[in-house]
Amino acid sequence: MRKGLTLMELLVVMSILATLAALLYPVYLRVRARIYETSCANQLRQIGLAIRLYVKDYSAEETPYAMPLFLGALYPHYLSDESLLICPRVWAIVPHEVIERNKWKPHPLVPSWKVLWSSYAFYIPRGFDDAARKRPDIWPFTFAEVFAERGDMTPIAFCEAHRTFPLEAVNLTLPNPHAYRDAFIDPGRPLIILRWGGKVDFVFKGGGIFANRDAVLVHY
Ligand SMILES: [Zn+2]
Repeated sequence: MRKGLTLMELLVVMSILATLAALLYPVYLRVRARIYETSCANQLRQIGLAIRLYVKDYSAEETPYAMPLFLGALYPHYLSDESLLICPRVWAIVPHEVIERNKWKPHPLVPSWKVLWSSYAFYIPRGFDDAARKRPDIWPFTFAEVFAERGDMTPIAFCEAHRTFPLEAVNLTLPNPHAYRDAFIDPGRPLIILRWGGKVDFVFKGGGIFANRDAVLVHY
């Protein structure tokens, strides 16, 4: 009657387990990435609904021009959960206490006001039009022109946290931004785009280290 495993058998079992783990790890990473993307898209969908409610309250004509200046302005009246303003992948990579410490920012126009930070890139149509009027060499089109052409399909916000370091995360006073930057890069993953009509799209093409938000407005 044998008792337990010999050393050789134990080594064989261990090497089989190590091989299995190495094979399954990339699968685990892909599944995890897809879970972040799905819940991010759900968050963007809820933000889209909150934006439409806000616009209904503030303007007779429902256009993106009646959107708030900051996504953080949706909280608490239109979006009851402030954590929805930050992508799940940002929550997973950046320590929660860093986010908690930095999530309130002075308003750029009224510094005595504090605005809730969001990891989502967001368009301010009037600001975009002003920029296009002042520097047509850089922005040869206005938001109004894009909206006139694309209507409900006009991008109004997007998440770039799945394949690049989110531009919006630069606003966080991170102790070591480069550490986070390296953790974020995953070129095979999509850009997640919220459109004016409420649709959320995954786009796998294009985009550099920093996705260009103006290119997103026109081309996606
Ligand atoms: Zn996201």
